[in-house]
Amino acid sequence: MQRILTTETSKKIGEQVKLAGWVQTRRDHGKLVFLDLRDRAGIIQIVCKNAKEIENLRPEWVVEIEGEIKERPQEMKNPGIPTGNIEVAAARLTVLAKSQPLPFPIDTLGYDISEETRLKYRYLDLRRPRLQRNLKVRSTYVQAAREYLFSKGFTEIETPLLTKSTPEGSRDFVVPSRIYPGKFFALPQSPQQYKQLLMASGFERYFQIARAIRDEDPRADRAFEHSQVDLEMSFVSREDVMGVVEEMTVFALEKIGGKIANKPFPVVTYQEAMEKYGADKFDLRSEKEKKEGVLAFAWVVDFPFFEKTKEGEWTFTHNPFSSPVNEEQEQWLLEGKNVEKIVTSQYDLVCNGLEVAGGSIRTHKPEVLQATFRILGYTEQKIEEKFGHMLEAFRYGTPPHGGCAQGFERLLMAFLREEYLREVQAFPQTGQGRTSVMEAPSELNEEQLEELHLKVINPPSLKLRRARKKK
Ligand code: ASP
Repeated sequence: MQRILTTETSKKIGEQVKLAGWVQTRRDHGKLVFLDLRDRAGIIQIVCKNAKEIENLRPEWVVEIEGEIKERPQEMKNPGIPTGNIEVAAARLTVLAKSQPLPFPIDTLGYDISEETRLKYRYLDLRRPRLQRNLKVRSTYVQAAREYLFSKGFTEIETPLLTKSTPEGSRDFVVPSRIYPGKFFALPQSPQQYKQLLMASGFERYFQIARAIRDEDPRADRAFEHSQVDLEMSFVSREDVMGVVEEMTVFALEKIGGKIANKPFPVVTYQEAMEKYGADKFDLRSEKEKKEGVLAFAWVVDFPFFEKTKEGEWTFTHNPFSSPVNEEQEQWLLEGKNVEKIVTSQYDLVCNGLEVAGGSIRTHKPEVLQATFRILGYTEQKIEEKFGHMLEAFRYGTPPHGGCAQGFERLLMAFLREEYLREVQAFPQTGQGRTSVMEAPSELNEEQLEELHLKVINPPSLKLRRARKKK
């Protein structure tokens, strides 16, 4: 017999079926035992005669059941669940896996359980209905985003994880090379350079659901790893890219039941945002909309391209690969003058006070990219060393292009009214920067270190020990 799902049972009254799943609850009523059986689709009540094989049966054991679907007696019907009118009279029950008592309840929201415990047993934490829903909603959102982008002629292309450091304003995670002693790969802070190179290749419309990996201190809406809908387009204006991202967002959000306050999304300049809200991330919702779980978007444009660091040097505010908003300003950039007045073609999307997307029209002219890095204080030699490949690509007919990345996990946080990114990720890092379930970061053994030509000169454990000794 083919296994069916609990949700497929309602139309099979009187039929013999096979079900499989987890025992959610067990209620003993003398000679009869009632089980709630849970599978990925829902739950159903099972009635068993109290026989030997079910004596020890406990919650979270995995079982397979064969039996007849029966209509429940009128007074036993439960309108609260989709299978509330029926039950399965078990004729055969097989235990597929036993379970120890769980370290925490999984039928609650789970917010009260410590992060450490939840993430150590993340695979159990994920059995929680709230997290099952969050990850399913995430999957639906991503599928809808894909569907939208495919309908607009985008090609999905993966870019390397082992790559060279790209400046996105964060610290790189690095990977030592075994073959090239003393050399390192960097994990991508974003696919920025590769997606621009794909424009040089003539794909015109690229996207991928990309992982961005950045070594920044974790906080509620930021983690070492996050996923983004990453896209790039050729022959487009700023408004074209914003339009695609906006349509995709509305399309995908409506697929998951999102309510959007203002369509089309309002566009405000950075200056207006600072004057009106005192920040470039702001929340446009009324108190009523907050209660109703509405999402309020706005685009922010016209950011300054550069700002001064504490040390008095120029740094980029968003993305060094962007172009200035017009030709006059491009000229300033080339001449290195009026640097403080140069406005970048960057656009950021904010939603309920969170930054949920950002992108820009890029420069496709080698001399403009060179001038940007010159303003950022790079020597000609360093520009060549770090970005020579981009300058070179731009010399072989790279079309004008622009793109965007949407940190859709933040968007889902807003939609699902979660406060932490980890509530929409399957296996997030802890707030202390460690992995879920598996113990990492962890030490390498001697052979591994040797093969990688690495020597750990000051293991923190040693440093700690010394610090403790001093006290
Ligand atoms: N590379 C940028 C980021 O990851 C997005 C973009 O400009 O397309 O934030």
